[in-house]
Amino acid sequence: MAETIFSKIIRGEIPCHKVYEDDLVLAFLDINPLSVGHTLVIPKEPAATLDQLSDESAAAIGRVLPRLSRAVLAATGAKDWNILQNNGVAAHQAVFHVHFHIIPKHDDAGLGIGWKQRNFDHAQGKALAAQIAAAVKG
Ligand code: 5GP
Repeated sequence: MAETIFSKIIRGEIPCHKVYEDDLVLAFLDINPLSVGHTLVIPKEPAATLDQLSDESAAAIGRVLPRLSRAVLAATGAKDWNILQNNGVAAHQAVFHVHFHIIPKHDDAGLGIGWKQRNFDHAQGKALAAQIAAAVKG
């Protein structure tokens, strides 16, 4: 994986406003926040996108996400928030090191979502679900 700005932050070569660290995970404030308290949670493992992340690092992030979310809410007074995780340029990923955004919602500040839902095709859905289930088994 190519070196990213987050590798430098993990190594302490670039400063950050750190809120949490353990052996596998680092969390710090986003430098261009969508709202006050916008926090990034990253694995120390250098995986570009989530599908490339080890189960161990994924579990480590999953273990602390609820606790970090509670802490961000407590510190900012927000009651609502989004978890966002982008993969790939078309999906708005700018830094190619896995990261989860914790984005508090404060009035009009926070994550805006375009949520254009489509009709469900049950025949296509049945075939697709079987295909995905088979791929999960590997
Ligand atoms: P993405 O669009 O890849 O999901 O989000 C990348 C995020 O990383 C952006 O929200 C951006 O503001 C944040 N970011 C990029 N460079 C830095 C940096 O050097 N320090 C911090 N704290 N955040 C950064």
